[in-house]
Amino acid sequence: MTQWTDLRSLDKNELTDIILQMGEKKYRAGQIYGWLHKKLVSSPDEMTNVPGSLLLALLKDHPFYDVKEIERHVSGIDGTMKFLFSLHDGNVIESVLMPYKHGNSVCISSQAGCRMGCRFCASTLLGLSRNLYPSEMLGQIYAIQKATGERVSHVVVMGTGEPFDNFEALCRMIDMLCHPEGLNISRRNITVSTCGIVPKIYEFADRNPQVTLAISLHAPDDEVRRELLPVARKYPLDELMKAADYYVKKTGRRITFEYSLVRGNNDSPAQAKKLARLVKGMNCHINLIPVNPIRERDYRQSESRSVSEFKHFLEQEGIQVTVRREMGRDIQAACGQLRKSYKERSGS
Ligand code: SAH
Repeated sequence: MTQWTDLRSLDKNELTDIILQMGEKKYRAGQIYGWLHKKLVSSPDEMTNVPGSLLLALLKDHPFYDVKEIERHVSGIDGTMKFLFSLHDGNVIESVLMPYKHGNSVCISSQAGCRMGCRFCASTLLGLSRNLYPSEMLGQIYAIQKATGERVSHVVVMGTGEPFDNFEALCRMIDMLCHPEGLNISRRNITVSTCGIVPKIYEFADRNPQVTLAISLHAPDDEVRRELLPVARKYPLDELMKAADYYVKKTGRRITFEYSLVRGNNDSPAQAKKLARLVKGMNCHINLIPVNPIRERDYRQSESRSVSEFKHFLEQEGIQVTVRREMGRDIQAACGQLRKSYKERSGS
């Protein structure tokens, strides 16, 4: 038995073992798993063809934890929706739905809060409350699919939290999301973003070679990177780039580097040049994100001229680069802003 015992965190094999140990027929496990992960019930009462006595016995050791929508904000600019969910213990987390031409993409949180301390990020200001269970990561996707009535086709683990700081739950969540008896999402449609926990990059490449990896780079040298991302004090750039290279070679997939542009900090032509040198020859894509300023810090967005010059320079060097569209600016869609403002409003 793994560390998660709540009903919706159990994978198909575990659920089957439990059902058999209870002296029940194996097909019951299939029924229950389908209710939980395909029909997406919000309460065990909805499993109408499962005997009540069996459910009651099962729930005794394996409680059903749902995520409950408490707020929804819809952007008037681009249709982005931001959801605030409460968990069974009162924690709150946020998730974002981004409707694209190619399908609905959901950005989920992997932790309630975060302990990584990245300077411009609102998610980390209140520290880490706790890791999310696999069921709570899945629950965000399920709740959004139910709320909109539309299939979720892409999942990005780029919300609050550092996914590689909750590694086993993350891998379990991915396996369950891609399970044929669940939502059956393609691994290729999942992206996980890390601030750069090097040993986990190797492990992830070995265990999830089809999943897209994004690394928060944000600076082309250790000095500036350490200022923005405390994790860089532990894992310097040369180690990080070696791990990125391992991912690319091992998986044959293109890696994404996220680079949030902060005015006067990491957006100079010299830094663009250094960045180009750093990634030259690697199968990668650079995603430039004009920093989304948060009230608590005085980081400012790069001027649009610096953004285009930065981008242009990388393009000239033959590097694939895009500037991320700013989605849902009017609804506090930057990492962790909504959760934090909710906690302030509610005094929790
Ligand atoms: N912990 C993961 C995922 C978190 S957020 C990681 O660090 O990758 C996803 C991306 O948004 C990261 O690159 C993060 O550094 C960036 N980010 C967070 N807050 C931001 C802000 N206010 N403006 C711009 N980018 C931000």
